[in-house]
Amino acid sequence: MDIAHDFIADVVGADRQNPISQAAIFYGILTIGGLFFYQFFALCSFTYFFVLRRHQYFPPTIKRVDVMKQALHEIWIGSSSLPFMGLVMLPCPLFAYRGYSKMYTKVDDYGWGYLLVSIVLFLVVTDCVIYWAHRGLHHPLIYKPIHKLHHTYKFTTPFSSHAFHPLDGFTQGVPYYMCAYLFPIHNLLFVALFVCVNFWTISIHDQVDFGPGEGILNTTGHHTIHHELFNYNYGQYTTIWDRIGGTYRIAEQTHDFATGRPLPNHEPPASPNGLLADASRQLKR
Ligand SMILES: [Zn+2]
Ligand SMILES: [Zn+2]
Repeated sequence: MDIAHDFIADVVGADRQNPISQAAIFYGILTIGGLFFYQFFALCSFTYFFVLRRHQYFPPTIKRVDVMKQALHEIWIGSSSLPFMGLVMLPCPLFAYRGYSKMYTKVDDYGWGYLLVSIVLFLVVTDCVIYWAHRGLHHPLIYKPIHKLHHTYKFTTPFSSHAFHPLDGFTQGVPYYMCAYLFPIHNLLFVALFVCVNFWTISIHDQVDFGPGEGILNTTGHHTIHHELFNYNYGQYTTIWDRIGGTYRIAEQTHDFATGRPLPNHEPPASPNGLLADASRQLKR
């Protein structure tokens, strides 16, 4: 992100050392970059699974018009929240750029061995912190004002992935930046991991689970259960913390990984409308 900042600063002729221009550039990267990433990659996933291959992945009872309506609403939620998310996230890259983080730029500073260790550290720390942060967001006092927006629909689409209240996005986004202040991490590796995490977030909302449902990975099936039952499978990449915290539910693998075909014992949801009705009933409890 520092490289992007310096490139933009040079192109627009801004002073690299001026904190105001630094803040403006980082805000632009977070907001415009976030909007592009979310809309483009969620659209790719949505187009593939929900439009081009919808007959393969979903039963005819899932009406395209219902899914389209929902997707447009989610795009509105995600896109209108991202500029506010950018604002609350701004101190993270800004202070990192101003030298307060442990990010480094030369691999030789810590070596290739440590580079690999830092990947594991990043995944272990964020997996744990996001589990507890997400579980905290389901506390009755916090759920309604902040996290309920992400649970508007039980039937998720790739556009559900970033459809957050800004404070929800901040709570679940800040653990990644926290790593840059906790232990040394290469700046390009950090950006690469952050991008991968966002791909993962889109992927676990696409309803198509290639399994394995009983494994250590927190797959789409696990997160689909989270949206349907609320109090299970809070995890991000693994099911470890759900197992420790007593919130684990086995997921159902929906499709064969090699062929992409639905598994014979898979019972798809009847319709997003049915799920929507269930969701609103539960949300009104
Ligand atoms: Zn949740
Ligand atoms: Zn979700």
